[in-house]
Formats: sequence, structure tokens, C-alpha cells
Amino acid sequence: MNISRRDLLKFAGISAAAAAVTGCTAATGATGTASGAQSAAGKMLGKHQVVIIGGGWGGLTVAKELKKIDPKFDIAIIEKNDSFMSCPLSNSNLGGIEGFNLNTLTHDYSQAIEKHGYGMLTAVVTGIDRAAKVVHTSKGGVGYDILVLAPGIDYNYKGQFPTWSDAKIAKARRVAPGALIPGGEHVALDRMVKQMEDGDVVITVPAGKYRCPPAPFERASMIANHMQKEGLSGKVIILNETAEIAKGAAFKEAWAEINKGQVVHESNCKISDVDFDKQEITYVQTVYKDKDDVEGTKTTKTIKYGVFNFIPHNMSNPVIEMSGVETTKDGFKKVKMASSPEKPVSFQTASDKNVYAVGDVVGHGIPPSGQSAIWSGKECAKEIAHVLHGKSYSVASALPYKSANVCYSMVGSNPEESIMVNHEFMVSGPVIGSKGSVPKDEKTGKFRTTGLAKANRDWYKGAMRDLFS
Ligand SMILES: Cc1cc2nc3c(=O)[nH]c(=O)nc-3n(C[C@H](O)[C@H](O)[C@H](O)COP(=O)(O)OP(=O)(O)OC[C@H]3O[C@@H](n4cnc5c(N)ncnc54)[C@H](O)[C@@H]3O)c2cc1C
Repeated sequence: MNISRRDLLKFAGISAAAAAVTGCTAATGATGTASGAQSAAGKMLGKHQVVIIGGGWGGLTVAKELKKIDPKFDIAIIEKNDSFMSCPLSNSNLGGIEGFNLNTLTHDYSQAIEKHGYGMLTAVVTGIDRAAKVVHTSKGGVGYDILVLAPGIDYNYKGQFPTWSDAKIAKARRVAPGALIPGGEHVALDRMVKQMEDGDVVITVPAGKYRCPPAPFERASMIANHMQKEGLSGKVIILNETAEIAKGAAFKEAWAEINKGQVVHESNCKISDVDFDKQEITYVQTVYKDKDDVEGTKTTKTIKYGVFNFIPHNMSNPVIEMSGVETTKDGFKKVKMASSPEKPVSFQTASDKNVYAVGDVVGHGIPPSGQSAIWSGKECAKEIAHVLHGKSYSVASALPYKSANVCYSMVGSNPEESIMVNHEFMVSGPVIGSKGSVPKDEKTGKFRTTGLAKANRDWYKGAMRDLFS
């Protein structure tokens, strides 16, 4: 694959300028990779002080903050997509909230590069050689002094449905997109929702750690709002693998009062199979008499759907496995973070002092959200900047931190209303822990308010302004 002229300008231009300041030189010659794939044509593109894999919420924040701290730092992001698409507020687009559409969710990286002065290579990471300190990509190898892993999540269809063929999984991705990963899946779900006729919409909620726990429930609210506006008959059925609902009391209040029975939440539903041609889902629902019961009554059920937002089990993006850093043993494979008496909590990985991680992949006890990625990205940048300046910084010095994660969910469109959760972060053993609270409006006694809907819009605008313009 050839490197486009634009890639070269972005990447080599910044490299050359930074190399002059920092003494980084362009490496030549190919290196093998410890983890499989070798760089395209075996060539090296250059070397940078800090290389960040992933131009999403976490990666862009680390890059921006590092350049803010010291404009002389030589920073390069490797990102596979040529534009940024926001998952936050994508449900508002589905709900027809004024001012939100696929355009307002999409941002061009050129603007961010011009504003902040880091480099960006548009390429797919295919391997990481930690011994040689080289990231292999579809366009060539990139050397680093410090590497930041910010690749976000992937879906674990294979782990959840070991007997499904690759063709069936590909079909699931196409006709029942999860829409938790930025890009084409959001475009596909948008088309399906906007073109739907009467019939039921089914949304699955996976067990285990998954991106943005309130997102499937907000999506149910927003799709129900769309159906109400368009006069479509049918229900939004949530098949939840557990009984957990993030911001549960607040969503239930909104479903009862705004959607009036149109949103149906079913707990403890394990999907056993899907017939994508007949548009039928078979699942086993377990009903427990008492919430502390271990054994429940199991019933197998089959339902038909018009639109299916099939959110499978989540896991760390395969870039984490490519890096070979230690992860937790659960299905998600969270990155194990470093901990020492001097730095009890950190965004450095436990396996390699030159490799850091931010965003949804971290092994901290904090919610996988865009706002957590922003907070983490700022702290990670401080840690790296101190190392590059020969100093020491402990993230524990910033903790406890009130409102480290503030996450809104749009629940109504007429009037526009949101609910929110507020998380405080603190040191919790070797990791960063969190404690959340969902506030109620004192005057109305309701969780949802028009003020929170405005705050939701303002939060998104502020975040995008910070990252891009
Ligand atoms: C519907 C929905 C609503 C949400 N609402 C909110 C909200 O209201 N508030 C909030 O705080 N959070 C929200 N979130 C969560 C938020 O989107 C994520 O937590 C956040 O995106 C995580 O940031 P990240 O940097 O870890 O990953 P991402 O933002 O996904 O970035 C990862 C980047 O890595 C790139 N990448 C992956 N693999 C490779 C590779 N091999 N080579 C090169 N590049 C690669 C990807 O293309 C991507 O750009 C929502 C999520 C969803 C799905």
C-alpha cells in the first residue's frame, strides 16, 4: 500500500521539525516483529519520542496535552480511520434531537493536527515489537521511545458464540451492527432506524465490561422517541444478559413517564442463537424468585425483530494482544497497570515502563467513557511529560478527584431532557477506583431535567472544541 501525499505531509513534516529539536532521527531498515505481522514492504517510516496508537478520545487527549505541556515534544498518532466519529451523542442523532446528525458527529483530523502540532499517520497497526521499540503498520514501521496504547474496544463474537462461522459473524456485523465502535456501524444503524416501519427494535446488553454502560439504555430511549415522533407502532425490547441497568432508576422513570410502556427491559437473557434471515432471536431467560438466589427458572424464548442492535461481548482491541503486555484473565482482557510505593496508581503498564495505556482498555476500576478517557489522557500526559523532563509524577497526587467522569444520557426529545451520573475517582489498592451518583432535581423530584440536556450539549461542544478547533 502506498503512503498518500497527505500522510507524508502530516507525518514526515512533523517528524522532521521535531527531529531537529529533540534529536530524534528517522530510522531505516526493517525489523521483524515479535507479535506477528511485519510492516508493509519491511520499511521504516521514522522514529518519534512518543507514539500513540489510536486517535480516539484517549489518544487525542494524550497528544494534545503533551504538546500543551511542551511544544518541543515529538508526538505522532497512528490512526486507521481518516476522520473522527463520536460515539457520544450518536444516540441523540437516532432520537432526532435537533442539531445532531452524522455530520455533527464527524470531525476531520487535519484541524486537530493544525491546532495542536502533533503528527498523524493514517495506517492500520499490524504488530508491535517491544524489544526493538517499533510499531508495525500497513504503511511501514514507526520507532518510539514511549508508546501509548489507546486503541479502544473490539467485539468478542467468537468468545460468545464459539460455533458461529466467520460468515455468520460477518453477517451479524452487517445486518445487526453493535454501533459501539466509531465508523460505519453508526451509519448503518442510523439508516436502519430512519428507514424502519412498524415492528419491534431489539437491543442486547452484554455481560462483563463493555463500552459506556448507559449507552444501550439511552439508545432504547432515543429510538422509542423516534418511533413516537414518526407514529410507528412497536416496542423497543432490551434483552439484558444481566439485571444491571446503569443509571437504572433514572432510565426506568423516563421509560415509564415519557415512553409509556414502549420500552421493555428483560433481565438475565442469554442469547443462544440468531436467524438473521428470518429475523428471529432465540434466548434463555432466567427468572430468580429472590435476588440472592443462585438457581433460577430457565425458559427458552424466540422473538422476531424489525431492527436488531446486537451488542456482543466486548474486549480490548487486538492491538493490546499485539503489544504482549499483561492483561487480566477475564473475557475483556484489561491492561494490567503499574503500581509501586512511589506511584501507587499509574497509566504505565505493569509489563513495560516505556508503554502506557489510556481509554477503555485500562485495568483501572473507572467507567469506560469518553470523559474518563479525557481525564486519564490528561494524567497520562503529565506522567509522560515528567519522564521526558527527567522528573517524577504520581497520579495519586491528583486523587481523590470529584466529577472526574460526568456522563449524560438524553432521554426525552420534547421537551429535550437528560439524566446524568457523576463519578469521583480515588486510589483503590493498586488501581484507580470510582464511586458514582445519579442526582435528582430538588424541585421536581425527577432525575431528568431540561438543564441537564443543555449541559449534555455543552459537554459535547466543549470536548470537540478542545480536541479539534
Ligand atoms: C453510543 C455511545 C454513546 C456514548 N456516550 C458517551 C457519553 O455521553 N459520554 C462519555 O463520556 N462517553 C460516552 N461513550 C463512550 C466513549 O465513546 C468511549 O468510552 C471512548 O470512545 C473511549 O475512548 P478510547 O480512546 O478508549 O477509544 P476510541 O475513542 O474508540 O478510540 C480508539 C481509536 O483507535 C483506533 N484504532 C483501533 N485499532 C487500530 C489499529 N489497529 N490501527 C490504528 N488505529 C486503530 C480506532 O479507529 C479509534 O479511532 C459512548 C459510547 C457509545 C458507543
